[in-house]
Amino acid sequence: MTWETVIGLETHVELATKTKIFCGCTTEFGGAPNTHCCPVCTGMPGALPVLNERVLEFAVKTGLALHGTVTRRCKFDRKNYFYPDLPKAYQISQLYLPIVRDGALEIPLAGGGTKAIRIRELHMEEDAGKLVHDPWIDQTRCDYNRCGVPLIEIVTEPDFRTAEEVIAYLEKLKSTLQYLGVSDCKMQEGSLRCDVNLSVRPAGSAELGARTEMKNLNSFKAVSRAIAYEARRQIELIEEGKRVVQETRRWDENKDATFSMRSKENAQDYRYFPDPDLPPLELSEAYLERLREQIPEMADEKAARYQARLGLPAYDAQMLTGQKALAGFFEAAVALGAPPKQAANWIMGEVLRRLSADGLEAKDMTLTPGALARLIALVQEGRINRNTAVRVFDAIFADGGDVDAYVAAHGLEQVSDAGLVEAAVERVLAANPKSVADYRAGKEKAFGFLVGQAMRELKGQAAPQAVHRALGAALKQP
Ligand code: ADP
Ligand code: MG
Ligand code: ZN
Repeated sequence: MTWETVIGLETHVELATKTKIFCGCTTEFGGAPNTHCCPVCTGMPGALPVLNERVLEFAVKTGLALHGTVTRRCKFDRKNYFYPDLPKAYQISQLYLPIVRDGALEIPLAGGGTKAIRIRELHMEEDAGKLVHDPWIDQTRCDYNRCGVPLIEIVTEPDFRTAEEVIAYLEKLKSTLQYLGVSDCKMQEGSLRCDVNLSVRPAGSAELGARTEMKNLNSFKAVSRAIAYEARRQIELIEEGKRVVQETRRWDENKDATFSMRSKENAQDYRYFPDPDLPPLELSEAYLERLREQIPEMADEKAARYQARLGLPAYDAQMLTGQKALAGFFEAAVALGAPPKQAANWIMGEVLRRLSADGLEAKDMTLTPGALARLIALVQEGRINRNTAVRVFDAIFADGGDVDAYVAAHGLEQVSDAGLVEAAVERVLAANPKSVADYRAGKEKAFGFLVGQAMRELKGQAAPQAVHRALGAALKQP
């Protein structure tokens, strides 16, 4: 029997607002425990929440960018449960009228083409605090700094069939949120984390199998491994004639396995009811229009423009627009005169190579678009060769500095004076009579050696063509 894996995702995204969703406390990550708190976010009796307008704005913009329908009249609900990281004993969320419904996100498929992943809903809610387990003193302590940090939860339909599709979706979602500027999406700090709902069914079947939910996966690697493990576990169960139990499971990174946490709860368990402290929201068409206008040009539109207007291949356009910061860097370099295809090659080659070697994200890069544009211009003008340009690039990538000043200070300008090149060639021929004889006896290889020697004599700063020419001419003479 062949099996098909079916996956639906619930992704929690921390919004990049300065303050929390219902109070003025900072949302900054970290901080000494319980220093980013007030009576509202720690749930003191009688404290009253007030919605941070920025949160609404970010949620609506995300919904619009995901092609969803915004709920013009929406409200908040209380989700009641007790856990030590939730001092109010309820979370303010949205159950009945989520702010956005029925969206879609288009993802690229490995074999080419795209697939639309349907978004069932997007809602606003508050984050909970953190429990810090201290094995030394065998105690667990509560840090409420994260209580009330604004979240949006984005729920898809069960449209994924492979881990690759899930990763492509997360990458695209991350890029979309970064283009909008609504979240920094740092998975390692937990600002983007997802729950994976997974079931298996015989290939070709139309019914969904019983699913399990794996909570709070916070790296692409964890998502892929958890999916592979859980699909295999479910298939083995069914093939042994057993049943998959609908439950919540925990992914253990170190053991590379999932473990049962609790039987699956449902909405009734939470005794949801409309939050009486927060008035319902009425969004006007004018408000939505204003936010619609603020949505910047997104990755897909940019990629289409790079192909149509700048003549870039589809592959380059997709690579450059994958990260907002990279696209911005590219556009700025082109605006400063760099030919688009050359700028693209440098970015996809050297820039991405250095970013990955230095463990940096494009948005944290200090190299300026002006420096890259200047480097490309110097190569085009024949003042430095391509190898020297990469050397200059590496030197200024991290430490900054002016391209022209660096080239001048290190005497890197290409020797274009034909007299100098010829003189160097003469010296090399005089110093290597054996190679000259070899070459004349028909050993082609000797020519390469002599080119290398001449280049070295010129400190690598001559145009290779000029050296070839001068050497060829000199060797023809008796
Ligand atoms: P709940 O509210 O109990 O979490 P939902 O029906 O809202 O359940 O679904 C939550 C997520 O689980 C959604 O992303 C949905 O696509 C996914 N999902 C639901 N049923 C299945 C299934 N049988 N297999 C895989 N994913 C599923
Ligand atoms: Mg759920
Ligand atoms: Zn507060």
